[in-house]
Amino acid sequence: MKRIAPVFLMLVFLTGLFAAEKTGPKVFISVDMEGIWGVVHGDQVSAQGHDYGPARKWMAEDVNAVIEGLFSAGASEIVVNDSHGSMRNILAQDLNPRVSLITGSPKPLSMMQGVDNTFDACVFVGYHAKAGTASSILDHTYSGATIRSIKVNNLELPELGLNAAIAGAFGVPVILLSGDGETCNQARSILGSEVVTVAVKESFGRYAAKLHPQEEARKRLREGAKEALLKRSKIAPLRLKPPYAFELEFHNSNQTEMPALVPGVKVTGARSVAFTADDFIEGFKLMRALIALAGYQ
Ligand SMILES: [Zn+2]
Repeated sequence: MKRIAPVFLMLVFLTGLFAAEKTGPKVFISVDMEGIWGVVHGDQVSAQGHDYGPARKWMAEDVNAVIEGLFSAGASEIVVNDSHGSMRNILAQDLNPRVSLITGSPKPLSMMQGVDNTFDACVFVGYHAKAGTASSILDHTYSGATIRSIKVNNLELPELGLNAAIAGAFGVPVILLSGDGETCNQARSILGSEVVTVAVKESFGRYAAKLHPQEEARKRLREGAKEALLKRSKIAPLRLKPPYAFELEFHNSNQTEMPALVPGVKVTGARSVAFTADDFIEGFKLMRALIALAGYQ
């Protein structure tokens, strides 16, 4: 028996080693639509739009290119969250069959539903610039109809910043972002120079862009995803400092009226409200509820 014990322990060790080698990084992908290759107009990003059909296919194709790159860099599990509008844009059968799809709306964490501290990295595909960005396809922040700007601790953030801070609250870094050139600039300025960005188009305005050749764009997505996952340890999660002071500026003064009814929410101007949260995720949820209330007519 004394001789069997070390052999047994060695077998347990080797089995553990084998299992550890099989388990690669787990990646969360949030995919929006405005920054997808080919998309330049609202008619392409709503189910009522006459150009919607092709655009939802391009959305799956951009994500599949990223997925291919992530698997080639050793990812063992990938979860994709459809993050645009109805959040039912990607047809499940068009997505790489090895990944999970989170589809439908509303979801408590919206574009970030599904992320938690079991993930090793987060990727944003098809993202767009913040409201008020010149020459960037379909710029807005969460709600084009109500939001002029969202600030946290006095820093104006695009969706990519707010969503990265959610991932950051779980200790997960955003390693890659794709969209138009201006969105990539905003990603580097907020997330740091190590984040990998892939521009699939260069915008001339809110509704016009030069698309990079499709083959080239998808190749860049594949290679960017591979590079990003391999260098993920160099990319820090975005961690904002608590307490989190949120300020929402709306387009019109009437849009502050319903949000102002919520306890803890202060009116800070004719078109703006503010509140403070100790927990970023709780703050984000209140922000979303206020945006919904701002749209009340
Ligand atoms: Zn969108």
